[in-house]
Amino acid sequence: MKRLQIVAGNWKMNKTFDEGRELATAIINGLGSSENLVIICPPFIHLNHLATVSKGISNFYIGAQNCHFEKSGAYTGEVSVPMLKSCGVGFVITGHSERRTLFGETDEVVKKKVDAILEEGLRPIFCCGEPLEVREAGKHFNYVEDQIKAALFHLDKEAFGRVVIAYEPIWAIGTGKTASPDQAQEMHARIRKLISGKYDIETAERTTILYGGSCKPSNAKELFSQADIDGGLIGGASLKAEDFLSIIKSLP
Ligand code: PEP
Repeated sequence: MKRLQIVAGNWKMNKTFDEGRELATAIINGLGSSENLVIICPPFIHLNHLATVSKGISNFYIGAQNCHFEKSGAYTGEVSVPMLKSCGVGFVITGHSERRTLFGETDEVVKKKVDAILEEGLRPIFCCGEPLEVREAGKHFNYVEDQIKAALFHLDKEAFGRVVIAYEPIWAIGTGKTASPDQAQEMHARIRKLISGKYDIETAERTTILYGGSCKPSNAKELFSQADIDGGLIGGASLKAEDFLSIIKSLP
């Protein structure tokens, strides 16, 4: 069975409205036809426009980088999942290490966001990954497994089946230091085994697990060729159309 392969671009806090329109146009114009999914996750200001102009392009989606878990209310500066849905968003990143470390998001908050995303029929891109000191202490498998258990394992099989997981070792994000294909594969296989133990083999085999962390044109092909790596969540290299398109073309 071929699992759904995805390349998702996380623009983070980059690109003005015009710059974003230009980048998205270049990406859209360079897309070939493929069964693989391409998602771009720009800042909120771009979502409605980009979802509108890309409507109808097959296997291409607009994702958000964050959401609040409440549907509406007095939460100044926040954006809810129903609002994202009304803009045409299909996916929402949650649990990203920058949200966890810079904005204090706990496993409990991430879990509530996962629930809110699924409740509206959107799909979470759930990020997990260990800091350097945890890897150096040899505790990375337990650390990542605990993150997954805490935010996802309350879900029933059907709901879990809508989640995309992104393994992003924190020491590789934006640092230029990529996990080696073996290191990434080892963690992805471990995650799949964990899912199989909790749900079943079919669910585990169907789950798309992305790698993220300094993925670029020069290393994407080797990473994506690993048995349990189903594409990537791309930060820095998603900001240049040429690089992002090259990474998309690296999918098997
Ligand atoms: C990310 O932040 O999701 C990411 C993978 O960033 P980068 O590719 O820049 O390491």
